[in-house]
Amino acid sequence: MDIDLQIRLAAFTWLSEQVNLHGDVLSRTLLQQGFEFQGQRIPLVAPQGIFKPQILDLPLSITTAPKGPYDDYFGKDDFLIYRYRGTDPNHRDNVGLRKVFELKRPLVYLHGIEPGKYLATWPVYIIGDDQTNLMFRVAVDDALPALDYSQSDISHQVAEVSDARHAYLTSTVKVRLLQHLFRERVLDAYRSQCAFCRLKHRELLDAAHIIPDNLPEGKSTIENGLSLCKLHHAAYDSFMIGVTPDYVIHVRQDILEEEDGPVLQHGLKGLHKSKLILPSSKNHYPSREALEWRYSRFAKVG
Ligand SMILES: [Zn+2]
Repeated sequence: MDIDLQIRLAAFTWLSEQVNLHGDVLSRTLLQQGFEFQGQRIPLVAPQGIFKPQILDLPLSITTAPKGPYDDYFGKDDFLIYRYRGTDPNHRDNVGLRKVFELKRPLVYLHGIEPGKYLATWPVYIIGDDQTNLMFRVAVDDALPALDYSQSDISHQVAEVSDARHAYLTSTVKVRLLQHLFRERVLDAYRSQCAFCRLKHRELLDAAHIIPDNLPEGKSTIENGLSLCKLHHAAYDSFMIGVTPDYVIHVRQDILEEEDGPVLQHGLKGLHKSKLILPSSKNHYPSREALEWRYSRFAKVG
């Protein structure tokens, strides 16, 4: 196996370990430090989007900054769009990525969720080069472990993975990205605390949908979200707790009548008639229409 592939595989192994340790969203600091390969530190990001570490001849990662609407990142066919660096197709970074395309080398794709935080996806492959629109098409592929890198013709093996499969895999990345963006934005809006109990441990917080996201009205927006700890997210989702359109928390009658230990007493019953903790910015307040929609269903259950 050539050194280029060895380094790419070492990068993937390192990323898997980091995701196991820290979860899906990785910090820029961590990615900047990178991993060690034969005594040498290899970072995974740099200020420019197309990144080639010194040790390699070809780019290892592509990064998208945390800004802009989704349409910037996903084409109509669900493949990722990666824009050229600048407008010159022959800029060395663009040439490097084109070479990666020709040689079918796997890359790391880093998508900025918010400043300093990235969702890493690997391996991804460049599957198209559009010089007219100054962009590459990128597909996610999970076939990597099955590829035999000792063979020189891995490009042939990659080509065997069908377009439909690439499109499917890439669309799952889109879903993941949306979920993470939703979580980060909602948690930030609520200053990293549970809107019911003020618990301030981000690891224990979720972004809950007020109108569930399996319904067309259930948008992944801050106004349709609540930052809730795991316990209160589950309690809200199972209609044990409701929130009125004027931000008052209600606990279901049968729960109020139940007698049990401190978690039930303080964690659930104690919330009854208390006020929802609201985001710092009024623009981020939960939508009254969404709360109304949800509360009317809670009231029926209660
Ligand atoms: Zn809570």
